[in-house]
Order: sequence, then structure tokens, then C-alpha cells
Amino acid sequence: MTAPTPISFELFPPRTPEGVEKLPGVVCQLAEAKPSYFSVTYGAGGSTQEGTYSTLLTVVRECGIEAAPHLTCIGSTRENIAALLDQYRAAGVKRIVALRGDLPATAMNPAAPGEFHYANELVSFIRERHGSYFKIEVAAYPEMHPQAASAQADFDNFRRKAEAGADAAITQLFYNPDAYFDFMERCHKAGITIPVVPGIMPITGYANIVRFCAGCGSDLPRWLKLRLEDLQNDKPALVEFGVEVVTRLCETLLENGAPGLHFYTINQSEPTLRLCANLSLGAIPAAS
Ligand code: FAD
Repeated sequence: MTAPTPISFELFPPRTPEGVEKLPGVVCQLAEAKPSYFSVTYGAGGSTQEGTYSTLLTVVRECGIEAAPHLTCIGSTRENIAALLDQYRAAGVKRIVALRGDLPATAMNPAAPGEFHYANELVSFIRERHGSYFKIEVAAYPEMHPQAASAQADFDNFRRKAEAGADAAITQLFYNPDAYFDFMERCHKAGITIPVVPGIMPITGYANIVRFCAGCGSDLPRWLKLRLEDLQNDKPALVEFGVEVVTRLCETLLENGAPGLHFYTINQSEPTLRLCANLSLGAIPAAS
């Protein structure tokens, strides 16, 4: 019998009272798919409200699933990060998604405080202080991080994170599987052996997908953009089409060696659970 494909789900701390109210239900529905863990995003530069964040971690734990906080280092001091790591360890957290993060535009100035410049420094810091206690995930960019000097420089920087002690990586969202396969080939040639799990963003709207892709430098293939544009005023049809396209993307990735899938749930259960059902992933019965 082959081992089930690992899946993980990403959540963000809700920003509105309605979002806060809705989230426990969403988390419990998603938990039924039995993901390996829920990761929870964190605003860089301390822009996430502590109360909301810890509530979310509690909700996840109450559903019996491991919670993995994202930890961003830009704008932070060693002292702050050390305190957070101690706090997480005391709370039983065993997995961290270690990131540089982006400071909000208003805080982006040369005087912004901070002792870390890049995520590889954060990974080294975690390893120095806690040895192998935490499982560390880092970000990978098959289509290059938008601020990188070049694709090769970005890849070298990814290698630094692996060498600093990352256990695994999660990719930025993408809709072009060749970008992922090319990235994996480069890893193979460079002797980087950590699992690189594709980050999958379900498609639920035209404007938000265009915005997400533009924001993170991911290519929205022309054919896909045109089809979504045509369907933008027919939400049910767009959602059906989106499920079809993303199911196909996931199938292609898994058939060609992806070690698992990480879903950007955008705090909604249905789009991700439909994909899991189509793919017979997790504990969700296959779609009929
Ligand atoms: P790094 O790996 O440090 O890379 C950042 C840039 O610097 C790249 O262009 C890289 O090529 C370059 N670089 C890296 N090291 C060096 C070096 N030594 N010298 C010169 N250049 C270097 N953001 C949040 O604020 N909160 C979150 O919770 C969050 N979660 C995310 C989860 C995932 C899976 C992903 C893919 C992204 C997430 N982000 C989050 C966004 C992320 O913070 C941004 O993409 C950020 O700009 C880069 O973070 P990083 O950890 O990839 O940075």
C-alpha cells in the first residue's frame, strides 16, 4: 500500500469581526481532511495582532491538528525572535515556516529596525538556539522572487536556506507546472534534496487571482487569464472552471513527483476541500 500524499493548509489571522466569527467553523471543516498541519501566516514587522494570532493557533489545536506558525524576521530583533521561539516551544509548537517577510510599504524605510536581512539568517538563528527541535519550512520561488537580482541569484539564495538547515520548502503559488519541474531539476543538479511542496491557490475569482499573481510575480498563463476574464460575471461557472484547472494542475504535479501539496485556503473550506475530493487526498471521500 502506498503512503497517502501529505497535504497541509494555510490560514491567515482574520482581519474583521465576521472573519473571526466564521473561522472556527472553517478550520473544523478543513480539519476533517486530516492535513498534516495548518500553517498560520504572520504579518511582517509585527503587523499581526497578537490576540487574533494566538486565538487562531488555539482553534487549530482544538481540532487536533498540528499548528505551524509563520515567523517573519524583517524588522525584528534577535531578542524578539528568541522570545517568540521560546514562547512557541513552551506552547508545544514543533514546526515553523521561516520567512523574511515584507514590511508594509509605510514602514519600508532605511531606518526600519531589524537585525535580520534574509530568511537564511533566521533559519541559522533557529538552528543555533534550538538545534533540531523545530521542523523548519522555508519559501521557494519556481518563478523567481520578484525582488531577486536574477533567477540564478534567487536560486543560490534558496540553496542558502537549505544549507542553513531548512527541512522542507513550500513554493509560492504558480499555475505553470513547468516552472516547478524546472525548479526541481535545478535542485537535483545542485544536490538540494529537501522536499519542495507546491503551494496551491484555488481559483475563486478573476480579480483576486490577477492581483495575487501580480503581487508575487507568478505567471498567470494568457489562456487561463482570458478564460477567467470571460467568466468573471458568472461566479458559479468561474468556480467550476477554476476547480477543473487546479485539479488538473495538482494531478500533473503529483504524477510527476511532487512530495505533497500545500493549499492556500484563503480561510475558505469549500474550494480546498473540493480539490482534495477530486484528487482523493486526505480523509475526504472522492468526488462522485
Ligand atoms: P528570502 O529567502 O530572504 O528572500 C528574499 C529576497 O532576498 C529574494 O529576492 C532573495 O533572492 C533575496 N535574498 C535572499 N538571501 C539573500 C542574500 N543572502 N543576499 C542577497 N539577497 C538575498 N509574508 C509574510 O509577511 N507573512 C507570512 O506569513 C508569509 N508567508 C509566506 C508563505 C509562503 C509559503 C511564501 C512562499 C511566502 C510567504 N510570505 C509571507 C511572503 C514572503 O515573506 C515574501 O515573499 C518575502 O518577500 C520573501 O520572504 P522569503 O522568506 O522568501 O525571503
